[in-house]
Amino acid sequence: MALFCASVLGLLIGSFLNVVIYRLPKALIASWGKSSALDTDVHSEHSRSPYSCLLTPPSTTPCCSKPIKWFDNIPVISWLWLRGKCRYCSHAIAIRYVLVELVVALSFYWTVWHFDVSWTSALYAVFFCLTISLFWIDLEHYLLPDSLTLTLLWAGLIGSAVDVLPVNATDAIIGAAIGYLVLFVFSTLYRLVRHKDGFGGGDLKLLSALGAWLGWTEVIPTLFIAAITGLVCVAIGMIVKRQIHSLNHSIPFGPFLIISGVILLVCRAENLQLPFIQ
Ligand SMILES: [Zn+2]
Repeated sequence: MALFCASVLGLLIGSFLNVVIYRLPKALIASWGKSSALDTDVHSEHSRSPYSCLLTPPSTTPCCSKPIKWFDNIPVISWLWLRGKCRYCSHAIAIRYVLVELVVALSFYWTVWHFDVSWTSALYAVFFCLTISLFWIDLEHYLLPDSLTLTLLWAGLIGSAVDVLPVNATDAIIGAAIGYLVLFVFSTLYRLVRHKDGFGGGDLKLLSALGAWLGWTEVIPTLFIAAITGLVCVAIGMIVKRQIHSLNHSIPFGPFLIISGVILLVCRAENLQLPFIQ
């Protein structure tokens, strides 16, 4: 029953996170008074009606700005019922909406399965909500908002300080410091060699936050797995799209750091359950 409730809660929160992923970067960009150049390139269906969602609090369709009825807002089911198309203009609804809902539900299911109904589960749920939001926002807008990365950092530090997370407070604090410093050194060297920025400031804060959650021993493995998955994805992208020049295009590093952090977090939890694996 707890697992079923966790999954349903995951679907509902996933639906809310879709709103965060859609609105937060637009609100940030609007507050800076400039539009990200990538905003128009990467997400064309959003750029047709920019910020309309911020002006009218009830959700509207990104494609034709019509109000979304409650029965078109049921996680996953509405998307399947509408066959992935807008009710009004038949514009394709981004697969992201249903993916976010399913991934959040799956992460909540796994969390409760492992940690039961506990404070640890609640904090892990926060971890998954923040990282899933950061993953998509960075992928679509090349942005890692401070409001999310710093919340992730503090959740990790406080969780370890009050013994809710399986990492001790000293390891978490050193992990946060090393996470920031390692990427700071890398980005400084990259700037000296290539004369341009390799990492955004958000990447530094994100690795710092992951360092707090995983402990300092996992910082280098996190970076290593992120670099490998990043290179593999770039290579696949080059083969599929035959874009030889794609290495010169900047790609967001945040999603790869998050994939890597989640892999290590899940592996650590599995090891806690089965210590003889180590
Ligand atoms: Zn529409």
